[in-house]
Amino acid sequence: MDIKDKTKALIDSLPSHVALVAVSKTKSVEEISQAYEAGQRVFGENKIQEMASKWEELPKDIAWHMIGHVQSNKVKYMAHFVDLIHGVDSFKLLKEIQKQAIKHDRTIRCLIQIRIAEEETKFGLPEEELEALLKAAEDLPNVQIAGLMGMATFTDNQNQITFEFNKLKDLYDKVKSSSASMNTLSMGMSGDYSIAIECGSNMIRVGSKIFGERNY
Ligand SMILES: *Cc1c(COP(=O)(O)O)cnc(C)c1O
Repeated sequence: MDIKDKTKALIDSLPSHVALVAVSKTKSVEEISQAYEAGQRVFGENKIQEMASKWEELPKDIAWHMIGHVQSNKVKYMAHFVDLIHGVDSFKLLKEIQKQAIKHDRTIRCLIQIRIAEEETKFGLPEEELEALLKAAEDLPNVQIAGLMGMATFTDNQNQITFEFNKLKDLYDKVKSSSASMNTLSMGMSGDYSIAIECGSNMIRVGSKIFGERNY
């Protein structure tokens, strides 16, 4: 199957409440266009400059999601067009997003990335700190917290993945009522999105299953 057919098949297989982010990092404008032809309109990138140049070249009805770690000093390169930032894990970053959003007279939607994996990782907020961050974000009018994001440990152990996704779903259920705009739980990638959907994900981020393996 080519990219267009793979995209179509994946879209058709998903429950209607699950949004698909096609992760196109390292992939060419031509490859992205094939997924676009299948009707896909949401694409995810993990490098801001790469996303910005693809945004310039591709049709403007694409919603671009930043799924990677974000350095504060680079927010300005995407503030005018980014649709959703998945990897927010500090108040410092939220303040910078606020500052850049106001310059463009827009509200930028963000997900708070929670550290759920057992493996050591620098990224993601410890879950104990979520409540304080949500409280602090209330003072940032141009930032809209739309939900949570998380990545499970990279492992074949399905029980562990299920455990970690359930943990994030529980946390999401706890904070969801804090604001009407909290409606997104981004979890699941090519290898684990079926488990993630079973655990309550409503947004999956799938790259290699659509575009094939990445050559970095
Ligand atoms: C690369 C990436 C994905 C997609 O990974 P695949 O295994 O290719 O589906 C999803 N989420 C994040 C945060 C990523 O960096």
